[in-house]
Amino acid sequence: MGLIRIVFFIGLLYILYRLVTSPRKISKTDQPDIGRPNLPPQDILVEDPICHTYIPKQQAFVLEQGEKILYFCSKACRDTFIAKQGAER
Ligand SMILES: [Zn+2]
Repeated sequence: MGLIRIVFFIGLLYILYRLVTSPRKISKTDQPDIGRPNLPPQDILVEDPICHTYIPKQQAFVLEQGEKILYFCSKACRDTFIAKQGAER
């Protein structure tokens, strides 16, 4: 009869032993702080220089002027900008 108790006792000791000797879990999350991930291009808002609304870059009408790239909410705004430039020059 004593054998079961001994086995039980050994099992209990084993559990205690594992609890004591188990490596301490590092509560600190081991995620490196990458900082802000790069935003996908479609989420970048660009300002329309004509009507000053912000539009997602991917939906914007693009006008390249040498090194400068301008973004417009609509073709009409782009045309207005081009017309304005033409008038100034
Ligand atoms: Zn516009």
